[in-house]
Amino acid sequence: MSTLADNISAIARRIDSAARAAGRDPASVQLLAVSKTKPASAIREAYTAGLRDVGENYLQEALTKQQALSDLPLIWHFIGPIQSNKTKAIAEHFDWVHSVDRLKIAQRLSEQRPADLAPLNICLQVNVSGEDSKSGCAPAELPALAQAVKALPGLCLRGLMAIPEPTEDRAEQEAAFATLRQLQAQLDLGLDTLSMGMSHDLEAAIAQGATWVRIGTALFGARDYGQA
Ligand SMILES: *Cc1c(COP(=O)(O)O)cnc(C)c1O
Repeated sequence: MSTLADNISAIARRIDSAARAAGRDPASVQLLAVSKTKPASAIREAYTAGLRDVGENYLQEALTKQQALSDLPLIWHFIGPIQSNKTKAIAEHFDWVHSVDRLKIAQRLSEQRPADLAPLNICLQVNVSGEDSKSGCAPAELPALAQAVKALPGLCLRGLMAIPEPTEDRAEQEAAFATLRQLQAQLDLGLDTLSMGMSHDLEAAIAQGATWVRIGTALFGARDYGQA
């Protein structure tokens, strides 16, 4: 069985070679450790091994882990679907939200962001695969949403996020990530963040400009949803 430290090294090597292959500085790609269903002890171990950024999908699960880890200077990212009744706690307890896909949620996060905290870093989630079931705003809605979110005082619009339909085909992976990169370029808002790429497709995402890769399985092992 591989240890977490081994997994981190292996991911760092994958990021490094993918960045070099794309002519990019490996330091321009940041690793977000996605810890949904994993215990606080796994995050503590990741911290000891040098990771600082943690991604969680479920609010209550995240708040419980944050309490258990309140002695550590971790940076918390919310990456799951957001219901209106969860925005207050998200605005109070996170540094980043990657999964904003409608204005109502953004307005609530902005209003509910405590004044003594820095503006909440936001990525707009875009549906680049066109599946009905996926969350994310439609590409056609993105320019208006981005303009409106950029104007909200409690938020700092940083970039875009996508979860493309899973495929093992490298060309298809890259096509989806290229769509997100091009949508960001067309916005022309000077955004610096592309949150894209997971355990199985981080190389394709980095080739297309990812600045955050969100890695769960390759870091912490398979998730057991039976227990979660
Ligand atoms: C679970 C999850 C990940 C991590 O996926 P892996 O395939 O385990 O690396 C990344 N992003 C989001 C939004 C997730 O929900």
